[in-house]
This record gives sequence, structure tokens and C-alpha cells, in this order.
Amino acid sequence: MDISRLVKKEVASLRAYQAKEIPCRIKLDANESPYGFQEALKAVGKIQTNRYPDPEAKELKAVLAKNLGVKPQNLLQGNGSDELIYYLIATFGGPVLYPVPTFSMYGIIGQALGEKKHEIPLDRDFDIDIDRMMAALRKEKPKIVFLSSPNNPTGNCFSSEKILKIIGESKGIVVVDEAYQPFSSDKGYLPLLGDYKNLVIMRTLSKIGLAALRFGFLIADEEIIDEVNKVRLPFNVNALSQAVAVAALKKKKELKTAIQIIADERDRMLSAMEHIKGVTPFPSEANFILFRVKDAHKVYGRLLEKGILVRNISDAVAGCLRVTIGTPKENVLFLRALEKIA
Ligand code: PMP
Repeated sequence: MDISRLVKKEVASLRAYQAKEIPCRIKLDANESPYGFQEALKAVGKIQTNRYPDPEAKELKAVLAKNLGVKPQNLLQGNGSDELIYYLIATFGGPVLYPVPTFSMYGIIGQALGEKKHEIPLDRDFDIDIDRMMAALRKEKPKIVFLSSPNNPTGNCFSSEKILKIIGESKGIVVVDEAYQPFSSDKGYLPLLGDYKNLVIMRTLSKIGLAALRFGFLIADEEIIDEVNKVRLPFNVNALSQAVAVAALKKKKELKTAIQIIADERDRMLSAMEHIKGVTPFPSEANFILFRVKDAHKVYGRLLEKGILVRNISDAVAGCLRVTIGTPKENVLFLRALEKIA
């Protein structure tokens, strides 16, 4: 039986998200934190394995709401923020509009759900090309705009005037994906939530030491949350993740310290990379650095030979690799290897 004949045309032409397991000594490819919260795992001992998890993730939402200064009704839980992108597009439909290069799942999910997608190239500084973006807003009338700020893979925050212009002029939902906001000097868009009904903020625990849990969340007006909640699968966040997330989020000081170490290391690494001949790093507000080299494939391969795994981004940004900030020791080993290779 020819299965390919049965597959929807939008899915047939998709390429699966690249998340390969490549053996390495130093893993700096996936924007994870080098610091875990193993202590928090103790919390799973109380779970009754025969029972479904709390479908509303009440305790977890209460902790988040308190930390963020919002109401639990303004939060929606996801099995990673990936899943929330799915739910948002399933709820509002397309067209979807976003600048590129950016996080690939906006496009993959938009296409899988059969929606039109419009991609607007970033300008030379990796900022939003506001004229083209505004023209697309008027012409395509997108139901959802996705703005990753700080942006993956470029690392910069977009200008806030441009983001505000888009939120203000859009007749649809504007999602500011703040996966990397904890590492940024920009305070993000949470303080503006009350001013714009169409603003949705998306966050995740994946980058701050809890990627194994798969937990992301939306922060938005209650009416938006209620609509998106209609397409949420009943028990989308499992009991183990809920319990561990609650325990880890209570460790506010440890979380903050880990984030600060990573942000400091990023700044140190950036200036060190600026001094390596043949390497052009781009400023970053995230937990990774995008950098250009003469031959991205060669440098990627040579780093891997030394056991150091980074991400080859050259398909999206010519000649570029992306390195995640690791422990100070890992970062030194990376810098030494890069210096030799480049
Ligand atoms: N948004 C951005 C900008 C990302 O880079 C990522 C992870 N690569 C995600 C969302 C997804 O994060 P998660 O599904 O782990 O919450």
C-alpha cells in the first residue's frame, strides 16, 4: 500500500524538525542550560502512578502566577512551548506571519495545519524590517504574528518600537515568544499585557535548566486563554513534570543565580570570540551566540572531531554556527578549540 498517497500534501512536503542525538563530549547545540535541578526530582515520590495528572496544573500555575504577578486565569500550560504554538494556530488559524530566520516550528506547525505562512526577512542588523512587515500586515491580514525576542538563532532582541507598532496595528494575535527573555537585559512585554488585548506572551522552562520536563506556558488575556484552552489536550502536562516544576520554581535564588552565571559567561565569551581571527560573533541577549566563520561546515566538523557539538545554522544564516553557553569550563574548551580551528 502506498502510504505517501494518503499523506496530506502540506505534510508530505515538510521536513521533520532537526533534533538529532549526536554523540559528543561537550553539548552546546540545543540552547539548554548546563545547570540542572536534580534536587527537585524528589518531588515525584508523592505521585500516584495510577491517577491522571491534574488537568489544570493548578499548583504549578499558582506558583507561576505568583512569580510573574499575574492571575492563574491568564496562564495556559503546554507540553513545551512547541505545543502551545500548535494550539495557537489550531485556535486562530492562518495566515501566520513571522520574520526569518527564526524558530522553525512556527512555519512547520503552520504548514502541518494547512495554514498560509508569510516569512519576512530580517534586516541587515537582524532586526524587523518594519516597512515590509507592515505591508504584509495590511495585505495578508495574518491571524497570528510570531515574534521571537530574543530571536533564535540570531540572539538579538527586536526593537521594542517595532514590536509595539506591530502589536498596535495588527488586527490579529501577536505572540511574543520570550523563550530566552530570562537571559536578556530587555524586561520583555509582560508589563504591557494589560494595554493590548491581542498580545500573547510565550515562555518556557526549557532554557533555564528544566528542558527534560517539557513545560511551556502562555500569558494572555483571559478570553484568549479560554479560547486556546478549548483545543488543549486534557492531560497535556504529565504529573511528574508538574511536580518537579513546582519544586524547581520554588528555588528562586538558585534559578536566578544560574541565569546570571550564563548571562555573564555569554558576555565574556562574546568578547573572547571577537578576538579570534576569522570569527565574527553577533551580539546576544540569549543563552547562545551566533557566529560567522569562513567555512561553517568545516568548522562544525572540526569542533565535533574534538567532541564539541554546536549547531550548524548555515542553511538559515550563511556561514553561521550557533553555540550554546555551557559551564565556564566547557566554554573555555570551546574557545580554545575554535581558536585553533578558525
Ligand atoms: N521558542 C523558541 C524561540 C525556541 O528557540 C524554542 C526551543 N528551541 C522554543 C520556543 C521551544 O521550546 P520548548 O518547546 O522546549 O518550550
